[in-house]
Amino acid sequence: MTTRREFFKIVPIVSLAASASTGFAQAKVDPKDAQAASLAYVEDATTSKHAKYVKGSACANCQLYQGAAAPWGGCPIFAGKQVSAKAWCSAWVKKA
Ligand code: SF4
Repeated sequence: MTTRREFFKIVPIVSLAASASTGFAQAKVDPKDAQAASLAYVEDATTSKHAKYVKGSACANCQLYQGAAAPWGGCPIFAGKQVSAKAWCSAWVKKA
């Protein structure tokens, strides 16, 4: 049985491991990256001034977003990096 004292010793280790694994997660897309800029990627979709931007569209409701309900997720357009669920780029395709 885990005593209360042991529990408080274990919890920080577990959370440290969890944050460490998140820390090794893929880098986030930098909107200033050449590819991101060419696709008019913005971390906050509502700030997009792109002609193709439709109000309400964002990575979270894009067909290509791989993050499900997560705040950050993968996108094949930016392989190896993560995009924000609130972001938008000109390759946005309405989720089917
Ligand atoms: S293709 Fe879709 S999921 Fe990927 S960055 Fe653009 S809007 Fe976001």
